[in-house]
Amino acid sequence: MKLTIIGTGYVGLVTGACFSEMGSHVTCVDIDREKIDNLKKGILPIYEPGLESIVLNNYQDGTLRFTTHLAQAAKDCNVFFIAVGTPPGQDGSADLRYVLEVARQIGSVIEDYAVIVDKSTVPVGTADKVRDQVSQALEARGAAIEFDVVSNPEFLKEGAAVNDFLKPDRIIVGADSDRAAKLMRRLYAPFSRNRDKMMFMNVKDAEMTKYAANSMLATKISFMNEISNLCERLGVDVENVRKGIGSDSRIGYSFIYPGCGYGGSCFPKDVKALVKTGRDAGFAPTLLEAVEERNNLQKQVLGDKVINRFGPDLTGRTFGIWGLAFKPGTDDMREASSRVLIRALLDAGARVNVYDPVAMGQAKKEIPAHEQEKICFAQDQYTALDRTDACILVTEWKTFRQPDFKKMAALMKARVIFDGRNQYDPEEIKEAGFEYHGIGRELGS
Ligand code: NAD
Repeated sequence: MKLTIIGTGYVGLVTGACFSEMGSHVTCVDIDREKIDNLKKGILPIYEPGLESIVLNNYQDGTLRFTTHLAQAAKDCNVFFIAVGTPPGQDGSADLRYVLEVARQIGSVIEDYAVIVDKSTVPVGTADKVRDQVSQALEARGAAIEFDVVSNPEFLKEGAAVNDFLKPDRIIVGADSDRAAKLMRRLYAPFSRNRDKMMFMNVKDAEMTKYAANSMLATKISFMNEISNLCERLGVDVENVRKGIGSDSRIGYSFIYPGCGYGGSCFPKDVKALVKTGRDAGFAPTLLEAVEERNNLQKQVLGDKVINRFGPDLTGRTFGIWGLAFKPGTDDMREASSRVLIRALLDAGARVNVYDPVAMGQAKKEIPAHEQEKICFAQDQYTALDRTDACILVTEWKTFRQPDFKKMAALMKARVIFDGRNQYDPEEIKEAGFEYHGIGRELGS
């Protein structure tokens, strides 16, 4: 099959690469010329385990191409994936400007029957808007070409995106026409061999499924963070509570880790957008609003703990931050908890040393220049602790899991650890001579 993927970011590039790996002929389109030029030179715009080799091999084989010209890609193509960003607008709703612009462009280039697939996360009703845009563009050309709009939300996780795409739990397809549904089944057949992973439903149901999935996961995290705050005040160790409830098969262990808040490009914006959808529909989404509010407060927890420990004026103090990405396995800094912590520490007069195994380059692009003046981007995790007042773990990369505490003690000015992801055993840390501050398990010094 010939596919065109429009938007070559985390979702578009992984989608394009994985379809080409399964034998489809894929052209990835992006308006970012630098991104496309780099991809043609074999330089990937993102860090994603396993992606580079798939992209390079299929590019060399000619099954994966890159261009900035949609019209060129569209020749003989009958499936178009829209995989551009849907960032939050001023009012919290998903900003559909990029999706609708791409829809218009598709309408102006298709030559024959086409299936237009909404891969981006878009609110209920967006497929109708995409259909309108395509129809208007066709009308403007005086062309009468049949097309269908399909919703096929993406569930990949950054950090495990290739594996998730190649071995999905399920493939949701919202299609209102048999013709489009059949084509989608054929397209995804290589990913659905061992059992039928395809779930067909109507377009609106598919659009809603994506928001419900992300909101459910965000709710689990915020719920556990709420419990962790209570535990802290009651002298309870939330880690025991987590294991205690996780062992209940109705609850399960996943997504109930307390921490310093969720970030990334999806959960924050998707919860916000669903809140807005609810309000627009005349419904008060009180639970979703609370999920968002808890998360915003949770991102401040580490900064508050540092200030409680060292006082409100941090002038003359330096803190070593381990981890910048919003989660391990990615260089994505969007809405990362580290951003909130860094801002709080700098506002209180501190300096910070930071280290992340892969997100340093991204951090230099995204953290504002006036903040970077007071930030030292360290060579490695230990250099980041040189003469610091405390080590603050924000992203639970494996490399931070079992650090050399002796080395840390020798480097640091004060032996204090703030563990934003409850990665360490408080007793072990205390035995190593450190003061320990976790989430929901304040055991004192
Ligand atoms: P991204 O920001 O990484 O990539 C979007 C790309 O689209 C950019 O490269 C941008 O230059 C390009 N673009 C914008 N307008 C364009 C146009 N008119 N023509 C061609 N290219 C254009 O975004 P992402 O993280 O890949 O997310 C894309 C969508 O997928 C979003 O709706 C997101 O919510 C959803 N999603 C993301 C993830 C994730 O983990 N990142 C997972 C599931 C779903």
